[in-house]
Amino acid sequence: MPTTCQACQRPIDDNVMACPHCGYRVCHTPSLRRADRQAVTGLTLGVASIFLPVPGLDILMAIAGTWLGIKTMNHPHITRHKTALAALWVGVMALCVNVFFWLVVLAPVLFT
Ligand SMILES: [Zn+2]
Repeated sequence: MPTTCQACQRPIDDNVMACPHCGYRVCHTPSLRRADRQAVTGLTLGVASIFLPVPGLDILMAIAGTWLGIKTMNHPHITRHKTALAALWVGVMALCVNVFFWLVVLAPVLFT
């Protein structure tokens, strides 16, 4: 479905930041909201995974959070750059914390 300019109602490309016909700034396209939402979701997943005491699932959530951060960080429509960056780093950190935690917890069980 093509995006239409809110000011002049003419069809515009989904990747432009301003309407080429009238210069109206396009700031509320659905994909912009989606990118921002994914960045927030990524950050939430990363933070939640640190506190989730379920081995495997917490690591998956950390990976998903990191992936969403990477994916949204360079998105042309993202306005929450810091959130995307935070999602990336919290995800990486959560991954390390979770892997380390489960190694410490499971090592005595696995290696004795
Ligand atoms: Zn326009």
